[in-house]
Amino acid sequence: MIQNKCLGTVLIVGETVDGRLSAGSRDLGNQASRLAGQFNGQAVGVLTGHDIEQVARSWSKTAGMPVIVLDHAQCRYPNPPLTASGVGALADECSPLAVCFPHNMRACQAAATMAWRIKAPCITAVDAILKESDYFVLKRAVFGGKLRESVSVGHVPMVLTIMPGLFSPSVSLEVPDHSPSVETRLLADTNHRFIPQGINRRKDTDQALERAQVVVSAGRGLKGPEYKGLLDAAAGMFKNAAVGGSRGACDLGWLPHSLQIGETGRTVSPALYLACGISGATQHLAGMRESRTVVAVNTDPKAAICNLSHYAVIDDLTVFLPVLRERYDRMRNKGDEV
Ligand SMILES: Cc1cc2nc3c(=O)[nH]c(=O)nc-3n(C[C@H](O)[C@H](O)[C@H](O)COP(=O)(O)OP(=O)(O)OC[C@H]3O[C@@H](n4cnc5c(N)ncnc54)[C@H](O)[C@@H]3O)c2cc1C
Repeated sequence: MIQNKCLGTVLIVGETVDGRLSAGSRDLGNQASRLAGQFNGQAVGVLTGHDIEQVARSWSKTAGMPVIVLDHAQCRYPNPPLTASGVGALADECSPLAVCFPHNMRACQAAATMAWRIKAPCITAVDAILKESDYFVLKRAVFGGKLRESVSVGHVPMVLTIMPGLFSPSVSLEVPDHSPSVETRLLADTNHRFIPQGINRRKDTDQALERAQVVVSAGRGLKGPEYKGLLDAAAGMFKNAAVGGSRGACDLGWLPHSLQIGETGRTVSPALYLACGISGATQHLAGMRESRTVVAVNTDPKAAICNLSHYAVIDDLTVFLPVLRERYDRMRNKGDEV
């Protein structure tokens, strides 16, 4: 049955963390049918974890694809070596066109290990896929987003890690009605010496950023820490708002590293994301792409974030933000609804 399911398919590999689907896996699932379409194949989900039947059913339903669960007690927390051997065995069995993981550190480890195992090319951090006559062109940002690289691959299967939001979130995904289809396979006991014991959440990060409906975020365009008050003042205009930043601003010490948003930082999906003085590097977008409305404040109309945002204010943030706050205060003092 799996054999038939896998023929001409693209394996979409998700992970669970203590019985819950990770955010990256949810995002990848949402893109599954379009991703498989790029390869002219069908998406089949593969989910690792332990006792995750219900989660797998829900993923199968929302992503509109059948899901194969690879179950093992040692997969309660992400386990790259075990994931690599389980997904590798599945790939040996059913020769998929491609195997796609979400792009994060754990998945990169699993992807690279399994690619070596099945002798397939492994391309990480893919943010665009183009089909040429008999090969694929995979695109990604390199050197901290300063350059873009195109990799041509004609080998099948290929193993990829996919950046969040490969397909623009503004494009509505037509996921056909799909009744959940889940098949569970117990992974054989192995001699892997990597046995994850649990996950300790950092104590110095509260969840305010993830829960915020409005995120006011700043990058190197902030010019210096003395302007941080402008961000707090802008955030103060909203009921449930928090301040975040790009790695550029955090590396310079203008904002604490715990507030960094992006691939190596936190992931937010607010109703409004106000990106002030942020260029829009792929690694930053990875952490805020799911925002419902993005407003960029930037002096450079050609900055990537201006293309991606719903609204762009072309101005110096140290000029614009005080004016915004002043107008807000004036309206409040007049008793106008704000
Ligand atoms: C492995 C790896 C992981 C990474 N992870 C992350 C991550 O998690 N998060 C992250 O953010 N980055 C990450 N990066 C870094 C990323 O590639 C970029 O270097 C970084 O996001 C750039 O930060 P920035 O936009 O603040 O700065 P810049 O790219 O320097 O952009 C500054 C912007 O501010 C504008 N500007 C300048 N002055 C003003 C002004 N007065 N008013 C308004 N606008 C102004 C400029 O036009 C420019 O667009 C990562 C890089 C690597 C290699």
